[in-house]
Amino acid sequence: MCSRQGMALQRGMYFKSPPGHGIIFMPHRPNAPYADALSSDGTGLLYEGHDVRRTQGTPGPKAFDQPRFEMDGKPTQNGLFAVWVDDLRRGKVLPAIFRVYGKMRPGVWIDRGLWLLKDYGHCKKGRRKVFRFRLAQADFNSSTPHESASADLKASRQIPSRIKQAVYKRDKGRCVICGGADQLHFDHDFPFSKGGTSILPENVRVLCARHNLAKSATID
Ligand SMILES: [Zn+2]
Repeated sequence: MCSRQGMALQRGMYFKSPPGHGIIFMPHRPNAPYADALSSDGTGLLYEGHDVRRTQGTPGPKAFDQPRFEMDGKPTQNGLFAVWVDDLRRGKVLPAIFRVYGKMRPGVWIDRGLWLLKDYGHCKKGRRKVFRFRLAQADFNSSTPHESASADLKASRQIPSRIKQAVYKRDKGRCVICGGADQLHFDHDFPFSKGGTSILPENVRVLCARHNLAKSATID
């Protein structure tokens, strides 16, 4: 765990699923190896992914597309960020949260607050492809669903009653698998422990006791 984090911190980006938050370091200097930019009003952030690891005898990391996977097939930090956004687009999860640190001068990092990962692209840059991640400043006092949701998400895995009512109505009061109408439970389609949220109806469904148990047995 510690060695993994150490590696990620070298790269400047470290993913963690909500309700925890990951970390992003922004070099923020003219000759930074990565092209990162704060929008002029300070509320948007474009963050470039990390390069392949430097290995001896190769032309250097800038000769390669930024990788989604390690040599052993595990996702890189780029991959973890991208997969989360893919799930976000499907409405399965809330935006992942990051604490962003900006470099003021050598050895001095300033806390730029909490940001939400909103989008990414795998974009052409010169002769190779790089990841670009778009983040928006988190406003935990905002009333827009996603932003305030992140705060709610931290607080509770309880499914609010207004969500239960909406889900019960949508699923017509029956288990979505077998149609059974007794011993019903509200189920997180995407497990809370993996960042699924209770506060989007799309992520909650009605299951009978039997299918609720069958499901929890198959999820680690
Ligand atoms: Zn059922």
